[in-house]
Amino acid sequence: TKLITDVVCPFCGTLCDDLEVVVSDDGKELLEVNNACAIGAEKFLHSQAKDRLTRPRMRNEDGSWREVSYDEAVEFTAQMLAKSKKPLMYGWSSTNCESQVVGSYVAELVGGQLDNTATVCHGSTLIAVQDVGVPSCTLGEVKNRADMVVFWGCNPAHAHPRHMSRYSLFPRGFFTAKGHRGRTVVVVDPRPTDSASLADVHLQVEQGRDYELLSALRVAFRNEQLPDIVAGVPKETIYEVAEKMKNARFGCIFFGMGVTHSLSKNHNIDIAIQVTRDLNEFTKWSIMPMRGHYNVTGAGEVWGWQFGFPFCVDLSRGFARYNPGESSSNDLLMREEVDSVFVLGSDPGAHFPFSSVKKMNALPCVVVDPHITPSTVVVDLHVPVAFVGVEVGGCAYRMDNVPIESHKVVDAPEGMLTDEEFLKLVLGRIKEIKGV
Ligand code: SF4
Repeated sequence: TKLITDVVCPFCGTLCDDLEVVVSDDGKELLEVNNACAIGAEKFLHSQAKDRLTRPRMRNEDGSWREVSYDEAVEFTAQMLAKSKKPLMYGWSSTNCESQVVGSYVAELVGGQLDNTATVCHGSTLIAVQDVGVPSCTLGEVKNRADMVVFWGCNPAHAHPRHMSRYSLFPRGFFTAKGHRGRTVVVVDPRPTDSASLADVHLQVEQGRDYELLSALRVAFRNEQLPDIVAGVPKETIYEVAEKMKNARFGCIFFGMGVTHSLSKNHNIDIAIQVTRDLNEFTKWSIMPMRGHYNVTGAGEVWGWQFGFPFCVDLSRGFARYNPGESSSNDLLMREEVDSVFVLGSDPGAHFPFSSVKKMNALPCVVVDPHITPSTVVVDLHVPVAFVGVEVGGCAYRMDNVPIESHKVVDAPEGMLTDEEFLKLVLGRIKEIKGV
């Protein structure tokens, strides 16, 4: 057997790069994964599943499946996209930047609606950052400098299981030699979560009232008067937390979907950024979204370079437009404005409202995904591909916008294509069809 070290985990935005993987001598079998959390290890081990699909499958009239070749899959996808007036091209967060680049070329050529999973996740964060900017840092700085962290509307103990042990709570760093004993942790969450059980202070905010609590912190920083209770939290606790924040040496606010998708949405993030700015009058604070899919940040980066917008990119007029709420996937589906759907590296069947998934079901639809997922239930064509980060390497961006290069650790089953290879074939075929 061979031991491969410094392997990058392609599951969540923490992008742990210290995994060790044991593979057979011929590099065809993955035997063991060390250092990963349970969900990360499962992603690697799932590539070895005996019942895994290795060839594309097309749906028959009666709902059953028939296996087709990759050539037929390329032809179907290219024809579908080339004939569509306005195809929705969604996903892109569980693949590498190389595939995202080819996907953007395809979208430009067919006038697609290009959107990634931020649309149902941290899209409101991206809007807030465009509005007011963001004082941020890297996870390495948090590990080496932070003596106070705030987790607002997120539960890393479950969603990013090694975040706390690698960066934000337990590790000892250059200026943080005491590890977790030297860090103050505040969790803001309406629920008593496992992350909250590790906190020094749990602010049990009332559901949907984050904006008020963030405003109250700004008042407390200036020692102005607060009402007795704000958003379910007594004023004494708010003053106490505000004082701790002002007296920290280096702090970071991590936030999740509890604030991006509760009442006020992007305005919650606007004011959380203002809280961070206020704190920088006293000491050093940063703020960072807890990005979910391992390369959703990369999708925003790649489209940022290419089109100037990180998600909800409308290319149907021959130039890039951006108007979340109008050019976002669910709005387009609900208004029946798109006439086909192409999904790669995501599972809208699991994450979109049922009414949107029903609309997808009624349209020509292709899903490119190594797994059988709720999305593959509603498609005409399902194209399984090699696991990115396991069977093919490539660049991905961690939640702090640091690009990390991953390498292949095991061979994909014989004859399987990667996301990038499949997209390049589709791009070539669309060029032929359109004569460009
Ligand atoms: Fe993978 Fe995230 Fe777990 Fe790290 S925390 S091993 S990146 S799933």
